[in-house]
Amino acid sequence: MNSLQIDKAFPYSDTEKRYHTFDYFAKHLFGKKAARVSLDAHLTCPNKDGTCGYGGCLFCAGGSSGAIGETIEEQYARGAAAVHRKWGDVALIPYLQANTNTYGEIGALSDLYERCATLPSAVMLAIGTRADCLSEDVLSLLARISKKIPLLIELGMQSSNEETLTTIRRGYTHADFVKGYRRLREAGGNIRICLHLMNGLPGEARADMLQTAKEAARLAPDMVKIHAVCVLKNTGLHAMWEAGVYSPLTMAEHVGILCDQLAILPPEVVIARICADAPRDILATPMWVRNKMAIRNALDREMRARGIWQGCSSNIHVGGV
Ligand code: SF4
Repeated sequence: MNSLQIDKAFPYSDTEKRYHTFDYFAKHLFGKKAARVSLDAHLTCPNKDGTCGYGGCLFCAGGSSGAIGETIEEQYARGAAAVHRKWGDVALIPYLQANTNTYGEIGALSDLYERCATLPSAVMLAIGTRADCLSEDVLSLLARISKKIPLLIELGMQSSNEETLTTIRRGYTHADFVKGYRRLREAGGNIRICLHLMNGLPGEARADMLQTAKEAARLAPDMVKIHAVCVLKNTGLHAMWEAGVYSPLTMAEHVGILCDQLAILPPEVVIARICADAPRDILATPMWVRNKMAIRNALDREMRARGIWQGCSSNIHVGGV
C-alpha cells in the first residue's frame, strides 16, 4: 500500500491527515468547523486555595483570562465575535477554561452552567476541571445539564507517572485521577471526556510520555489534547528553567514523541490539540510552540515519512529514551 492509499484508508479523516482531528469530529457532528470561546468564571482551584496546596501546579500561571469585571455573557459575545472574524461561520463551544470549573458551591455552579447552556449558538459546553473535583452533587448536575446541551469535560491528566505528579505538585495521584475519571464515565447523560496530556514534564523521558499515552488509550476517552510543556513567566517551572535545571522539549522532540503517542492511541479518540495556546506576553520558552502551522506540518511529514497513522501500533515499545 502506498502513502496515498494509507491516507485514504484512515477511517477518521477525509483529508491527508493520519490522525483523528477535532475538525473532522466537528464537521461530522455539527456539519462545520467548531471553535471554543474561552470563559473565565473567576473560580479558584484546590491546589491554590490550600485545600490540597498553595501556589498551584509547577507550570500554572494562574489561569485567569484577564476578563475581570465581565460577565460570562459579555466574555462570550466578545470571544464569539473574535472567532467569527477569524473563522467565519463556525459552531461555537463556550469553554470554562480558567482554574477548576467544578470546584465551588453547587448552587452557584448550577447557575453558571445554566447560563452557559443558553448562550446564543452554543452547540456544546466544555468545562475544564480536575478529576478530584467531581463530587456526587457535581456529577448529578453535569448529567442534568448535559440533557440541555452536550458537555465536554476536560480533565488534566498530564502524566500517569506518580513521581512526575509529585514533582509538578499537582496535589492528587494518578490513582485518584482514574477513580474520578471512572465516576464521570458512569455519570450518565450526554457527556464526552477529553484528557489533557503534557510532553516534556520535568524528569520525564520518552518512555514516560509513551506510557502516559498507553494509559490514556486504556482509559478510552472521547478526546485527548497533547501539548509540549510551556514555561510561563513567574511560575515554579520558570524558576527551574532560569536556574538551568529544566529544559523544555525541542519541536523535533515533541513531534517525534507525538508520532509514537498517536500510533498508540485508538483511531476513534479525537486528537483535540497537538500544541498549546500560550499567550505571547507570559510565555518564557520555548517560542516554537507559537508556530502551530509549523508543528502540524512537521507532524504530518513525520507520520508520512515513518508510515504510521493513529492507532497503527498499540504495542509500540515504550522502553529507552
Ligand atoms: S489544577 Fe489547573 S488551575 Fe489548578 S493549579 Fe493545576 S494547572 Fe492551575
